[in-house]
Amino acid sequence: MNAKRPAAETLPDFQKITLKEKVHEYDDVYTFTFTPSKEVIYTPGDAIHLRADTMKEGSGRRAKKMSFASSPSDIDIVFSMRIRGDSAYKRALGLLEVGEETSMFKSNGSFHLPTDEKHVVMLAAGVGVTPFVSILSSLEQVEQDIKLIYVSGKDFLFQDILTNPVFNQQKVSRDEFRESLLETIEGGDDNFYMISGGEGFIRDSLAILQDAGIDESRFLLDQFTGYENWS
Ligand SMILES: Cc1cc2nc3c(=O)[nH]c(=O)nc-3n(C[C@H](O)[C@H](O)[C@H](O)COP(=O)(O)OP(=O)(O)OC[C@H]3O[C@@H](n4cnc5c(N)ncnc54)[C@H](O)[C@@H]3O)c2cc1C
Repeated sequence: MNAKRPAAETLPDFQKITLKEKVHEYDDVYTFTFTPSKEVIYTPGDAIHLRADTMKEGSGRRAKKMSFASSPSDIDIVFSMRIRGDSAYKRALGLLEVGEETSMFKSNGSFHLPTDEKHVVMLAAGVGVTPFVSILSSLEQVEQDIKLIYVSGKDFLFQDILTNPVFNQQKVSRDEFRESLLETIEGGDDNFYMISGGEGFIRDSLAILQDAGIDESRFLLDQFTGYENWS
């Protein structure tokens, strides 16, 4: 039996949000800051359904999952994404002007920092870095050994937060990624791996980890569906 999905507006965490700032980062990558109309409850690493209210019904899904790049202690919320011209959803978001409203609902996720792991390796590609930005900017004290291997074909996002010596950020090109990950694997038997990015990045990272004999209980994935490549 097909249960009808409840209207987004009836969900307890549905709310209107107002665009405060839109920054063109590089290529087709943009960062959006929104001011919510009420407190947003989420855990660092979570995603929410961000709806493009101005998008016409019938031209595809109007709400898609976006990972918070902000920390729950911030008043505003932040998302980064690629604005592809052939996505009606992204076109509508890209045309939003500062001061205009859209909406969001149903935050969830399980991509959370395991606090009982001593050595955590975060692997991110492109906009896949956003959940890590949320996690790292929310830490009051860094008691774990955290290394972020961040792959980008061009620029690196959120460097004001990520260039912090308490977490070891390694910025690499796509060609350098494999070697960098292999070195990290060799350097730590008890590493726990968190991986975030497009489907291609998740697949390629898993292949390297599995070839190196890392058990699947030692990794946690956040797959940005809709990005076939590395994001
Ligand atoms: C937990 C989670 C967190 C996420 N967090 C983020 C985030 O922080 N930022 C973010 O940007 N995304 C995030 N995503 C992905 C997001 O939900 C969207 O799926 C993604 O941004 C792509 O949306 P789109 O409208 O650009 O693509 P869509 O138009 O939905 O396209 C989806 C797929 O169809 C293909 N496609 C569509 N049109 C064409 C075409 N004309 N020719 C060829 N191929 C085509 C695309 O290549 C892609 O594979 C997240 C997803 C999940 C599950």
